[in-house]
Amino acid sequence: MSKIKIGIVGYGNLGKGAVEAIKQTEDMELVAIFSRRDPESLKLADPNVKAVHISNASDYKDEIDVMLLCGGSATDLPEQTPHFASMFNTVDSFDTHAKIPEFYQSVNEAATKNNTTAIISVGWDPGLFSINRVMAEAILPSGKNYTFWGKGLSQGHSDAVRRVTGVKNGVQYTIPSETAIERVRSGENPELGTADKHNRVCYIVAEEGADKAAIENEIKTMPNYFADYHTEVHFISEDELKRDHSKAPHGGFVIQSANTGADNTQIYEFSLKLDSNPEFTASVLVAYARAAYRLSSEKQFGAKTVYDVAPGYISPRSAEELRRDYL
Ligand code: NDP
Repeated sequence: MSKIKIGIVGYGNLGKGAVEAIKQTEDMELVAIFSRRDPESLKLADPNVKAVHISNASDYKDEIDVMLLCGGSATDLPEQTPHFASMFNTVDSFDTHAKIPEFYQSVNEAATKNNTTAIISVGWDPGLFSINRVMAEAILPSGKNYTFWGKGLSQGHSDAVRRVTGVKNGVQYTIPSETAIERVRSGENPELGTADKHNRVCYIVAEEGADKAAIENEIKTMPNYFADYHTEVHFISEDELKRDHSKAPHGGFVIQSANTGADNTQIYEFSLKLDSNPEFTASVLVAYARAAYRLSSEKQFGAKTVYDVAPGYISPRSAEELRRDYL
């Protein structure tokens, strides 16, 4: 059986995760990685993987079945997805929730015009969490839906603490509130504000002689980022930061709680606990590449979201095998 030929655009955390995720499949092969940087400078971990400058990607139109777009959501994907969807079937992880409708429009236009299939906003949130929010709400319409994130390393909040005077280095974790989760799980259906749902914990390496009390105060009172939350600040050494905080963990919970019948509480819960956010997200992208390939073979062109893709399309197993062994 011939394998599905995959290209990767962008060699950051997600791109590196995608290389590993493709290796774990039996029906896909990596053709090349495309980057805006000098391919020689990428220092690829695997010498058998080919790196190509992004400007030469169009030469690979006939050699690649699906392009995994691993650029950042802020500025890369709004440009790269429509551009690549005009030449290739694509899968991306665009995660700026508020801009998904306009992103969909521009990608759909490019994909429809050029007979390609582009699955957008794939990953875990948006992605698997989105699917579970919709499933839970459709099944338990009288209930309430809650999403909790974490324990997770937040890039934006980590950047914010690193900008505080006297901070040499630091990270910030978003931690879901156990109390809030227990209230939801008990069927109470509480009204929860953002600050009730999550706490913030910072691990800070202070500069030599820095005023730690002043650092702690500046972090805890920082508007928009920390002031409205329960925030903990812990000071640690550079070695401890490197040893204990260099992974990118994340995860969370989607919980729907509702009553049915006379007085029966029904709890729908989906959760993820991830040691590496980018490696997991890349694994989801790779599974959906299979769907993009199949949908395209069936001439189902245009932009799609995870809501449009039936679960069987992401599985390497045949429909017959799924019916026999997995139902
Ligand atoms: P990175 O910042 O690591 O990479 C983004 C791009 O930056 C890369 O494609 C690469 O492009 C460039 N880049 C990476 N490293 C360097 C470097 N050292 N020097 C210069 N350029 C570099 O982002 P991530 O891979 O961590 O995340 C990508 C996106 O994935 C995020 O923006 C987020 O939106 C999304 N995401 C979605 C999730 C979901 O659940 N849906 C979950 C997690 C992430 P190039 O090779 O062309 O230079």
